[in-house]
Amino acid sequence: MRVCVFLDLDDTLFQTLPKCPPEQERRPAAFDRDGAPNSFMTGKQVRLLEMFEQSAEVIPVTARNLDAFRRVRVPFCSLAILDFGGVVLRPDGSPDRDWEARIRPQAEAAGGTLHALLESVQEFIARQNLGVNARLIHDLGMPLYIVMKHPDANEDALARIRAEHLSALVPKLPFGNAPPRNSVSPDLSEFFLHQNSNNLSIVPRFLGKEHAVAYVLEKHFADVISIGVGDSLSDVPFLRRCDFLMMPSGSQLAQALQADR
Ligand SMILES: [Mg+2]
Repeated sequence: MRVCVFLDLDDTLFQTLPKCPPEQERRPAAFDRDGAPNSFMTGKQVRLLEMFEQSAEVIPVTARNLDAFRRVRVPFCSLAILDFGGVVLRPDGSPDRDWEARIRPQAEAAGGTLHALLESVQEFIARQNLGVNARLIHDLGMPLYIVMKHPDANEDALARIRAEHLSALVPKLPFGNAPPRNSVSPDLSEFFLHQNSNNLSIVPRFLGKEHAVAYVLEKHFADVISIGVGDSLSDVPFLRRCDFLMMPSGSQLAQALQADR
């Protein structure tokens, strides 16, 4: 029986230099727009990938968009799931048009809300002088999700956006105590939040790595053993779609399990 590995990338297969264990072998794995390496694989991550490649179909499952995925220098040769499941690439690098036909109408319908959310977040950042970069991620011309990062990785600034601004946009308090909702603010109930280190994303619920993983399994790999590998709490739904799941020790997910004990 074939084996399929659905593999998250950032903080699972590679990570930025400050997150690499000191004094261990490491190899550049992803690059910034200027061509400088900004993420690295340890020797163990290299070996793990080699092992997967020898015996399984390896399918990256990432929040990266096409541009950022192309800056990953790991020779994947199967399908790839990008943009929190917004885009599925075929092995030749072209988009899976059936999947795109499902996502595009929903992305276009959410576009107005995404732009309003971005504007509202940017106003809060400017008013509070937080210095966080917030942008709307597009792919194949579709507006997909909002990502916020601090240039100096000030996670407190992201925590403030989440606690003081985003919580006020959600009527049902999924993350924090919300004051009465401002009727002119966009409603966040149709979105989920992903936060891990210096990355806070607002993602519409029609996205989700798990939907794309389910689609790929159904369309391309009907009878396989599936292994999901991921590090973040937001990876859990796609990991649950798989027969087996793995996580890096020390990851957000592993720490959450530890905290539950
Ligand atoms: Mg990750």
